[in-house]
Amino acid sequence: MAVLPIRIMGDPVLHSPASAVAEIDDEIRQLVADMYETMDAAPGVGLAAPQVGVGLRIFTYSYVDDDDRPWRGVLINPTLWMIPTEPGSPDPDDESEGCLSFPGERFALRRSDRVRVIGTDLDGEPVEIEVDGWRARILQHEFDHLDGILYIDRLSDSDWKTTQKIARKRGWGRPGASWLPGVDDLEG
Ligand code: ZN
Repeated sequence: MAVLPIRIMGDPVLHSPASAVAEIDDEIRQLVADMYETMDAAPGVGLAAPQVGVGLRIFTYSYVDDDDRPWRGVLINPTLWMIPTEPGSPDPDDESEGCLSFPGERFALRRSDRVRVIGTDLDGEPVEIEVDGWRARILQHEFDHLDGILYIDRLSDSDWKTTQKIARKRGWGRPGASWLPGVDDLEG
């Protein structure tokens, strides 16, 4: 297993729709093992394959709620449904999220409060997950990655402008920018 470099905003693989996984073979199993290790090392609550430079429809997630209940897994070729997002502005205290591909920053974003995701696990068995709250936010965020969407693409105009200033200052927004968890001092 290995911790993989995480691509940063501007790398084309993050901004293109990912392809479906045709077959779960040893290469995919190795990739998923490395994704778990990379997600845990970052640390992050989710990681999508495009974030480690692989344009395939796979993401991992890992979250422990206030009651210490762990929630962890992988989804391959997922489909997502959500209830409509409540109108209004997001609360920065309760509705802010970050991304390992725009590390060290958080911005407020309104998301749907409940989602259902259907996909397969690493054995090719069907998986169906229905969750709300933070888990629903995590699944929407990771699912977006598979469609080439970063959460910063969904921010208000003024927050989006702020992200562009940050990117210019840090030399992001270009192909090939990445960071390595455990080596580079950045957090998502
Ligand atoms: Zn992300």
